[in-house]
Amino acid sequence: MTLPRIIPRAEHPISRGYIDPDALRVLYRLHRSGFKAFLVGGSVRDLMTGRTPKDFDIGTDAKPQEVRRLFRNSRVIGRRFRLVHVVFDDGKVVEVSTFRKRPTAESEAGGASAPAGDEDILIRSDNVFGTPEEDAERRDFTINGLFYDIASFAVIDYVGGVTDLERRVVRTIGDPDVRFREDPVRMMRACEFAARLNFEMDGDLRDALRENRMELRKSAAPRVTEELLDPLRRGWGSETYRIWHEAGLLEVLLPELDEEIHAHTGKAAFAPLFWRLLAESDRRVLAGEKFPDAALLGVVMLPLLFAAIRRRSGEGKRVDASRLLLVLEDVVNPLAARLTLPNHAVHLLKQGLYTMGRLAEVRPRDPAARKLVGKSYFPIAVSLLSLYAAASGRYAAPAEEWVEVVARTGHRLRKGEDEEYGAPFPEALVPSAHDVAGSDLLPPIPPVPVVDARGGRPRRRRRGPRRVGTEAVVPG
Ligand code: ATP
Ligand code: MG
Repeated sequence: MTLPRIIPRAEHPISRGYIDPDALRVLYRLHRSGFKAFLVGGSVRDLMTGRTPKDFDIGTDAKPQEVRRLFRNSRVIGRRFRLVHVVFDDGKVVEVSTFRKRPTAESEAGGASAPAGDEDILIRSDNVFGTPEEDAERRDFTINGLFYDIASFAVIDYVGGVTDLERRVVRTIGDPDVRFREDPVRMMRACEFAARLNFEMDGDLRDALRENRMELRKSAAPRVTEELLDPLRRGWGSETYRIWHEAGLLEVLLPELDEEIHAHTGKAAFAPLFWRLLAESDRRVLAGEKFPDAALLGVVMLPLLFAAIRRRSGEGKRVDASRLLLVLEDVVNPLAARLTLPNHAVHLLKQGLYTMGRLAEVRPRDPAARKLVGKSYFPIAVSLLSLYAAASGRYAAPAEEWVEVVARTGHRLRKGEDEEYGAPFPEALVPSAHDVAGSDLLPPIPPVPVVDARGGRPRRRRRGPRRVGTEAVVPG
């Protein structure tokens, strides 16, 4: 047992005024009932660095059933992690988990005979209760291993997290090689924390990333998908994807995308566009705009879609609708399968990308366009077009008009649609090749610089056959 470093109230910035009142209620009730009650994880990290936590998780030595009995409005959830959700009137949930220890190969194998020399230490279950110290040590990074104790208002540090917060370093708790092999998703998280906090990654951690990045293939696809979406949803996608790319993780996660944006392969035609798209969506997310997941996934797919179109159609050719649909299948399907996106999300994504192209060509007054408004993928297509317009400098006028339509018609995602990849699959819209033959459905491949050097308006290209080629691409 090691003694923790205790930082008394007078020496840290966490005030109860910053803690969610419902979370405080839960902390106090646990405490008054004789249990330990700590704020844990990200909320302590964020409060220590003057940020607003996303959620206030609580750790306690009360067992899930004991917590359950203390709060009428609570339920025990989870299998891998059994924890208690305390639900408040407005639907807010405070998560309470019992201190647990890091699972070992033995506890994994049911306590008896872990196969000797077994290299596979991937954690599959995680439900052995433990002490506060053990609970701190099972966590991923030192900056995430701090506790705030409601009994003393002190911060309790078993893992050196306070020093690492001061030094602005992301460091695993324990050997990064081991911690990354236990749970490879931690590699994605390490980069994400570096990106969002603007911290450095510790040197050993960086070596371990290189060494273990292939292990990511062992992680459950839905968890990886969540981690891929999370930074985009929260406004630090651009920096996170950049670090994933530099650390070699993106090559494992989304090899097609990584190849497409790799500056040294000569294939980087769409790299500048991709980074601008991310920067633009981050900017808007941080300003309060909320994009459906399908739109965020669409942003990730755009460079691939454009590259595939270029490969299929060759220089200077336009792509007709039926061909575009085939390309969409080719680009989206393999990725969707690997990420195990639900079917309705895949359809929404394809429809969004396809319709984006349509919105670039038709105007709201066009009778042909009217029926698009009201479709569940319509706002996705508008978001994509408007991000694309801002990132490329093209199609600013239709993008603006369609954004106005969304604002005017109050097209809101229905409840639930803005979460979990969007709405159920809408009625089939994809027109037959016959319906759309000859129409120019595709937003031109985006080779044009955003603004000219004098800062004037982007030059509009004339319609007609386009030249596409890397020489026209904005220098990265
Ligand atoms: P935020 O919620 O703001 O993204 P967070 O640090 O709270 O950041 P969560 O994913 O909510 O992140 O996880 C809560 C806490 O659980 C973390 O702070 C960390 O202590 C622990 N944790 C999360 N994921 C892991 C993991 N893969 N391995 C070990 N501990 C983890
Ligand atoms: Mg959290």
